[in-house]
Amino acid sequence: QEGQKKKEQVVKVIVVGDLGTGKTSIIQRYVNDKFSRKYKTTIGVDFALKVLPFNEKTTVRLQLWDIGGQEMYRNMTRVYYKSTVGGIVAYDLTNESTFDAVLKWKEDIDSKVRTEKGDPIPVILVANKIDLLDEEQEKEQGLENWRKTKEEMDEFCKKHNFIGWFNTSAKENINIDESAYALVDHIVTND
Ligand code: GDP
Ligand code: MG
Repeated sequence: QEGQKKKEQVVKVIVVGDLGTGKTSIIQRYVNDKFSRKYKTTIGVDFALKVLPFNEKTTVRLQLWDIGGQEMYRNMTRVYYKSTVGGIVAYDLTNESTFDAVLKWKEDIDSKVRTEKGDPIPVILVANKIDLLDEEQEKEQGLENWRKTKEEMDEFCKKHNFIGWFNTSAKENINIDESAYALVDHIVTND
């Protein structure tokens, strides 16, 4: 309604996944539109803020929490998850073991945080570093056996309760905004 103040909604999202998958790079690309070959490992937690004029009624203050440096434990303390309403799990398309860890990260989230109704919070899966894959070559030689087709990814997400997935590149700025938007849209719309 006219004259009515826009509602501000704070949305805390955690970004998890194995070391080196590009979590810090994704956050930096998304928030500061920057990419660097080297980020220092953050000690403790770090968060970045992006203000999104989401729609006519709502402005979203999106907090992206970076787990910097604690990836080796593959699980985070409960305190870190407090008030979290969404998650991003990242893996590196060129590193099979980071894909194998995806479900551990998902389980860690599901075991430590729930919505007010007691449901799992929405989590999106990002397959990062798509810029490093040679799709032509894959068409000719077939996928490496661990890598999934689009259909298999859809199936994987359905089975393990991810709201969706994107191939991303923090380096080339591919699907970073789209991933964040899909998650925020899911959170705000279902709130
Ligand atoms: P984190 O440990 O998950 O936070 O990963 P970082 O953001 O520190 O990234 C690890 C390394 O991967 C760095 O050298 C980044 O520059 C590189 N990197 C991150 N994202 C991409 C990407 O989309 N494409 C390419 N080619 N390299 C990336
Ligand atoms: Mg990092």
